[in-house]
Amino acid sequence: MSKKVLLIGAGLTASLIANILKRVDKTLKIPLEIHIWEKSRGVGGRFSTSRNPNNSSCIADLGAQYLTRTVSNTLTKPYFDSLFEQGLIRKFPTSDIPSFKQSLVGEKENYVCTSGTGSVVKHFLTQTEVKNITFNRRVVSISVTEDGRVEVIPEGKSHSELFDFVISTIPVPQILQLENIDAILKKSDQDLKRKLSEVSYTSRYALGLFYNTQLIINPPEAAVNFVDDNPIVRYWTLEDEKRRLGDSNRPRDSNSAVVIHTSVTFGAENIDKELDNIKEVLLTEIKGKFKTLEGAQPDYVKCHKWRYSQVNQGYEGSPGFVVLSKSPLILAAGDGFVQSGFENCVLSAENTAQQLISTIN
Ligand SMILES: Cc1cc2nc3c(=O)[nH]c(=O)nc-3n(C[C@H](O)[C@H](O)[C@H](O)COP(=O)(O)OP(=O)(O)OC[C@H]3O[C@@H](n4cnc5c(N)ncnc54)[C@H](O)[C@@H]3O)c2cc1C
Repeated sequence: MSKKVLLIGAGLTASLIANILKRVDKTLKIPLEIHIWEKSRGVGGRFSTSRNPNNSSCIADLGAQYLTRTVSNTLTKPYFDSLFEQGLIRKFPTSDIPSFKQSLVGEKENYVCTSGTGSVVKHFLTQTEVKNITFNRRVVSISVTEDGRVEVIPEGKSHSELFDFVISTIPVPQILQLENIDAILKKSDQDLKRKLSEVSYTSRYALGLFYNTQLIINPPEAAVNFVDDNPIVRYWTLEDEKRRLGDSNRPRDSNSAVVIHTSVTFGAENIDKELDNIKEVLLTEIKGKFKTLEGAQPDYVKCHKWRYSQVNQGYEGSPGFVVLSKSPLILAAGDGFVQSGFENCVLSAENTAQQLISTIN
């Protein structure tokens, strides 16, 4: 008899956990049936790639921008190798980008995602062959039943389902917003709720401008910009040119896309504002400031609120995951339990999967 495990969320951490569980499948004493419930209509979470609805080949990364690798990190190497072999990542020549702050040059390498960051999550999920991914399913409640299983209720309450194990990968503040979570936490270490509530994230807005024309930038390295002298805009890229950096043989996309990220301060001060208002503020702010965009009219504009953008204060001790309930096993994973970024999500996924494997075996 197999056991049912639910991964809440279909972002990077969930895709990696599913990938690891699939790889060790045959060594498990009890086979696992993996399910994934995702609140949005696609995979990726903060590693997702947006498309112009009028032209699906015109893409933009509204969240994560590039992958940073610690050269000496043997844990993450196979993941980079796998992405590299599939042509999904390529060295990102960040030393050529004037505003890029190089940290630990030599010890760190950066990689750009050749088909957008969303393809990274898709890659790990495709290898996993998970059949049970359900989109547009937001979990609102988890509780423990009398016979020791986990009842998970999605929004709308029409598809409540029982699972043997549950792994949440949603941002930590959202765990604390789940109905019935207090009943689960009450049975755990007294400090758990306090430590969970101490985890915090920065907030940002992202603006995606999708064009029907090709925008040209010179030199190409000017396609990626960290902005130090603007209170609203912190970063902007010409997406198609970003993906060409370091590979001048790659043909230029005929339709350009631009991504703008706001500063952390602007995000914090405006996080509860209406998205349409922020969109107007950002469109006004960039007018006349970015030469590349002058005269070009976007075909489609998308403004996205990242209420939980990057981890500000991670969970105490960076354990990679925490046990919310020992029996039945309910785990919480994701960047909140380490820090943001690809390698930290790998660490979280590895530690989380290991905990589930040792419980089963
Ligand atoms: C603007 C920005 C720039 C960044 N830049 C970089 C970068 O350059 N490099 C880098 O490595 N990292 C970067 N990061 C951080 C990186 O994106 C995150 O560390 C990583 O994506 C976290 O993955 P995760 O799977 O833990 O969480 P998430 O990606 O948040 O995944 C959680 C998933 O759960 C879903 N979900 C939430 N609540 C529910 C619910 N109740 N029910 C069902 N599903 C739910 C969400 O929709 C989401 O898909 C950036 C992030 C942002 C926002």
